[in-house]
Amino acid sequence: MASVPTVVLISQGDEVITGQTLDTNAQWLAERLTELGLSVVRKITVGDRLNDIVDAIRQGTALADVVISTGGLGPTVDDLTAEAAAAVLGGPMRLDEEALAFIEALFARYGRTMNDANRKQAVLPASSTTLMNQWGTAPGFSIEHQGAVAFFVPGVPREMRAFWAHHIQPELVRRLSLTPGRLITFRCMGIPESHLEELMRPFNAIDGAVLGFRTKLPENQVKLRVDPDFPEDRLDALVADIRSTIGKGLFGVNCGPIEEVIGQALTERGETIATAESCTGGQISATLTAIAGSSNYFIEGACVYANAAKVRTCGVSEGTLAAHGAVSEPTAREMAEGIRARAGTTYGLSSTGIAGPGGGSAEKPVGTVHIALATPNGTHHKRLRLGGDRERITRLATGGALDMLRRHLQGLLRT
Ligand code: ATP
Ligand code: MG
Repeated sequence: MASVPTVVLISQGDEVITGQTLDTNAQWLAERLTELGLSVVRKITVGDRLNDIVDAIRQGTALADVVISTGGLGPTVDDLTAEAAAAVLGGPMRLDEEALAFIEALFARYGRTMNDANRKQAVLPASSTTLMNQWGTAPGFSIEHQGAVAFFVPGVPREMRAFWAHHIQPELVRRLSLTPGRLITFRCMGIPESHLEELMRPFNAIDGAVLGFRTKLPENQVKLRVDPDFPEDRLDALVADIRSTIGKGLFGVNCGPIEEVIGQALTERGETIATAESCTGGQISATLTAIAGSSNYFIEGACVYANAAKVRTCGVSEGTLAAHGAVSEPTAREMAEGIRARAGTTYGLSSTGIAGPGGGSAEKPVGTVHIALATPNGTHHKRLRLGGDRERITRLATGGALDMLRRHLQGLLRT
């Protein structure tokens, strides 16, 4: 079997190398490339210096079959990529008329006047292939050097992703005769990764199938990659088998994030939700409303941090707070029921807990979180004991609350 094609990623820009911009491009590309079956062997980050960029391109093309560089294609003087690539090739530059016409048309459309700097963006290495940019101004390009292909695309993440989908990925598939195997993602909540790995052990030795794991707090994923010739009926049976093995922790297969799954279910059922949050500070409502169309089902979110707010907004009784404290099952239940009644929604979802680092006690240590879901047929409650720092605890608490709602909507909770 031929060896796995290798890739070097180059991230360009002073803002990236100084830490002002987090290099999400390399992370995103590495994930796509790995999914496609390629092997990312090195990531190089360089500032906006011609010599460094030249060096990086040389290194990349010497080392790997494929180089993908992001950033440095803009109109400013610090955008030196085309010049660097031409230097590596040892050849002249050319003005790409088609790209220039495209940039001109773009400026005309927005009623702006073009200057020489914008024109510069259409000046590319003479022997390069232009990659048109329908998503911004700067065209990308690719070159061949030392048996490697190198792609140069803009640094703006939205544009970079469009270049990947329309130019790079199809070209790699064609050039490397990749047969993208099928990738099936099982998305899970509420199952620790170690437990998930244990559950999946029986599926480890299947011919033509490979399992992988990924944690995207608060979610865990199982990725099943099967060879292109894996028989369809065997795949269906395998997917069904994995589904039932994971059980209730599985919120979907090849689906969007849990808030999208929740949104679809609420929309289909014509149901609505309101939230009352203490320790999650609005994260639950922020997550739910990150989904387009959430106004169809999300009615109201209250961040009731102080006891007085829990009383005033959710009608939690003073007696409950005095007897059990804010972080307790009765308070969580009254918050969920109170916000549901106040907003007139199908569901009320609440969180109350101790995110830390201070405020814990022997009885209620940091990481103790109560979540509740009020429904037309009663209220669900769960106590979570979460570990980690404040950020981790609030994220897991948010996930726990959303997962309670998801399980209810999927008919997995008893009332
Ligand atoms: P432009 O035409 O906008 O100048 P460009 O190709 O020159 O595009 P840069 O100037 O390097 O790209 O970066 C443009 C924007 O994209 C910057 O705001 C930067 O924050 C972002 N960006 C650049 N590189 C990365 C990266 N590796 N990861 C995430 N964002 C990035
Ligand atoms: Mg730029």
